[in-house]
Amino acid sequence: MIPFDQAFHIVMSHARMLDSETVAISESLGRILAEDVRSDMDMPPFDKSAMDGYACRRADLGHELEIVEVIQAGKPPLKAVGERQCAKIMTGAMLPEGADCVFMIEYAQEIRRGVVRFTGSTTHDNICRKSEDIRAGDIALRRGARIAPQHVAVLATVGCIHPRVYRKVRVGIIATGDELVEPDQRPGPSQIRTSNSHQLRAQALAADTAPTYYGIARDTRDAIDGAMKRAMAENDVILLSGGVSKGDYDLVPDIMTANGIEILFDSIAMKPGKPTTFGVGPGVYCFGLPGNPVSTFIQFEILVKPFLYRLMGHDYRPPYSLRPLASPIKAKGTDRETWLPVKFAADGRVEAGAYHGSAHINALCDADGLIVLPAGAGVLEEGTLVRVRPL
Ligand code: AMP
Ligand code: MG
Repeated sequence: MIPFDQAFHIVMSHARMLDSETVAISESLGRILAEDVRSDMDMPPFDKSAMDGYACRRADLGHELEIVEVIQAGKPPLKAVGERQCAKIMTGAMLPEGADCVFMIEYAQEIRRGVVRFTGSTTHDNICRKSEDIRAGDIALRRGARIAPQHVAVLATVGCIHPRVYRKVRVGIIATGDELVEPDQRPGPSQIRTSNSHQLRAQALAADTAPTYYGIARDTRDAIDGAMKRAMAENDVILLSGGVSKGDYDLVPDIMTANGIEILFDSIAMKPGKPTTFGVGPGVYCFGLPGNPVSTFIQFEILVKPFLYRLMGHDYRPPYSLRPLASPIKAKGTDRETWLPVKFAADGRVEAGAYHGSAHINALCDADGLIVLPAGAGVLEEGTLVRVRPL
């Protein structure tokens, strides 16, 4: 049994980055940039008005101003603004020569046709300066960035319509267990539906990878081995659920070894997820995740997901928030660090909801986040600050 940090280090240090490809910008959401993206132009490309208003010389703000033209966004100004003159200007339009500020339309009074006066006492310049956001040739987005909608905006802005991104990790998912049936079946006596298969597929999709599901393998050597061989031929990473504990039918580690996968650890000092197993084989990485759904869920989130992103060149850092406990929490087994689902109370403090242990997956649907109780923790008193990882 090794501490989680050590397991994490082993997993992450074995990640070899995948190759890259180009995708259309319309397909780029959630992909990881494989190269820096430079801008082919200044942004803004010219001094532009940040407001609808009047462009003039700041020194003239106290005077009546003659309107020389109306400047629309997308149309260059035709005239310079001289002394005691102004141009009516729209947001996003190019600032006319001679003007050094724009006052808002809300602070303008048209005294008579063609003449306007500033009614405020002072104004910002209300000018976005040429190249203040990005300079031509500058790196606008860095390699390793995960493309979110705002990154799509920047790609569009700089004209990068075919960004180079890392290939999606191909993730093969296998459920093991004689007790399992697919969700479209009514379980017989002593059976349950496989939730892990579909949960893992959803988690893999949410982690921007390309999952394939290989169905339920019965708890026999042949069944697991067959699924394993098919998955090994087609994937970068294999996730098996179940079959890694100490029961008579927990065959997964043996079958990993028989397929040339070297097991690098087979238990982690944490709860849930102690029997989590990791191995590296010929062109493939393999995780054996314990069958209890909360264990599978949490191990994917904290161990597998950062690894999958690392393969795609992205440094995944989950957000945390630091919040006080609304009531005391008592750690049950104190020999291993323990992850618990928690909720946010109306005042933002943290409370433990009902949680019956690692089979209780519905507890995660009501939870807002997860906290870690360190090994050896007894009672955490009300008001203790805890690090919450949002779900
Ligand atoms: P195992 O890790 O195979 O010993 O399974 C531990 C527990 O998780 C048992 O109660 C299993 O029935 C349950 N379990 C295993 N696989 C799944 C699955 N795919 N979906 C839901 N529960 C499962
Ligand atoms: Mg099993």
